[in-house]
Amino acid sequence: MASKAFNAFAMAQTQFDHIADLLDLESGTRELLRNPMREYAFNIPVRMDNGEMKIFRGFRVQHNDARGPGKGGIRFHPLETIDTVRALSMWMTWKCAVVDIPLGGSKGGVICDPHNLSMREQEQICRGWVRQLARDIGPLRDVPAPDVMTNAQHMLWMLDEFETIHGMHYPGLITGKPVGMGGSLGRTEATGFGVIFTLREALNDLDIRPEDTLASVQGFGNVAQYAIRLYNQIGGTVTCVSSWDQKDETSYSFRKKDGIDIDQLLKITDRFGGIDKSKAQDLGYEVLSGDKWIEEEVDILIPAALENQVNAETITQISNRVKVIAEGANGPTTPEADKVFAAKKIFMIPDFLANAGGVTCSYFEQVQSNMNLYWEKDEVLGKLDVKMTSAFLAVNELAKKKKLYMRDAAYVIAINRVAQACKDRGWA
Ligand code: NAD
Repeated sequence: MASKAFNAFAMAQTQFDHIADLLDLESGTRELLRNPMREYAFNIPVRMDNGEMKIFRGFRVQHNDARGPGKGGIRFHPLETIDTVRALSMWMTWKCAVVDIPLGGSKGGVICDPHNLSMREQEQICRGWVRQLARDIGPLRDVPAPDVMTNAQHMLWMLDEFETIHGMHYPGLITGKPVGMGGSLGRTEATGFGVIFTLREALNDLDIRPEDTLASVQGFGNVAQYAIRLYNQIGGTVTCVSSWDQKDETSYSFRKKDGIDIDQLLKITDRFGGIDKSKAQDLGYEVLSGDKWIEEEVDILIPAALENQVNAETITQISNRVKVIAEGANGPTTPEADKVFAAKKIFMIPDFLANAGGVTCSYFEQVQSNMNLYWEKDEVLGKLDVKMTSAFLAVNELAKKKKLYMRDAAYVIAINRVAQACKDRGWA
C-alpha cells in the first residue's frame, strides 16, 4: 500500500517538469499541462441495507481534452484521494497520446471498499456518481471505464443511469461494458496482453528468448492474470505473484520455483484478485510476506497492483538478474527508483506505454459502439497488437536516437503531441 507521505500528483508533476525542461516548453503550455483543466469532487448519499444513510466521496478529474474526449477509469478504493485521481488523469492524457488515439485524459474515483458493500449498495454508489456528473460526462465529452475494484456490472449501472437521465441510448458513454451490451470482445484481456506485446518487443530488442526468462508479478487482478497468461503462451515462466488479503489487511507473495500454474491459482482467487493463502499452501506454494515478489531472482518484474511500489527503499532489494521492468500498474516506480534503473541500464517499459492496451481497446469499443457493428475477438486483439507494437517501436527508436531513458522518450512523444494539439487550438 502507498505510504501516507507519498503523493502521486506531486510525482506526476515532477515527471512532467522534467520533460517540460527537456523540451524547453513555453511557460503557458507548461502551466496548462501541469494542472487539470477541470475537477469535480462531490458527495454521494446512499441509504445502506441497514437503513443508515452514508455519504461517499466521489471524484472526476479531466486533465486535458485537446486531442479528443476525456477517457479514464473509475476506481473504488478505501484510500482514494483527489491527488491520486489528478495524477491518474494526467497519466491518461499521456497514455492516449503515446499510442496515438484521438482521446484526452480523465480519471474518477469513489472512497469506498466494495468488499464491505452489498451489490445494491454498490449500485447506488454507481448511480449516485453518474447523477452528480450527468452534464459533465458523455460520448463526446468524457468517457469513463472500469479500474481498480470496478467492473462491467458497475459500468452498466452507470450507463443505465445516464441513459435514464438523458432519455436516449448512448452506448459510447462508457467502456468496459459487458459483451452483448455494447462491450468489445478482447477488452478483458487487453491491458494484460498489451503489457506482454511490449515486453515481447523489448526482449526481441535485447536479443533474449522469452522461453529463457523468469518473471515475478505484483498483483493478481485483471492486468496481472492476462499478462501472465500471454507471457506463459510466448514461453515465459512466472515464479512469484502477490495479492492483497482483505481479511488480514496486508499483502502476501506466492512463490513456486518451477512456475506458478495460472489456472490452478485462478480457482482459489476471489473476484477482487485476492489469493486464498491456506489453499495456496495446500497446493505447494510458499506463502511469503507481500513485499517478497520484488526480491525474486528473475529477469523480468511486472508490477501490476498499485502505485509507489518500486521506490528508493524497495529498489535496493531487486536482484542483479533483473533486465526488464514492464509496468502493468499506473505509477509503480518513483523518480528515485527510475534513476537507479537508468544508471543500471535496466530496460524500462513505462506504465503509460506498457498498460495502454486497456485504453486502446476501450477506444476500439467506442468506435464499435458508435458504429453499432462489433468485431471478432481476433480482429480486436490483432489491431491491439499492431497499435501497441508500433507505439513501442516509436518510443524505443527515439530512446536510442536521443539516448533517452525509455520513460523520458515516451513522455517526449506524448507531451509533444498534446502540446501541439493545445497550440493548434490556440490554448497555448
Ligand atoms: P484489480 O482490482 O483487478 O487487481 C488488483 C490486484 O492487486 C489484486 O490482485 C489485488 O489483490 C492486488 N493488490 C492490491 N493491493 C496490493 C498490494 N499492496 N500488494 C500486492 N497486491 C495488491 O486491478 P487491475 O485492473 O488489475 O489494475 C491493476 C493496476 O493496473 C492498477 O494500477 C490500475 O490502475 C492499472 N491499470 C489497469 C487497467 C485495466 O484495464 N484493468 C488499465 C491500465 C492500468
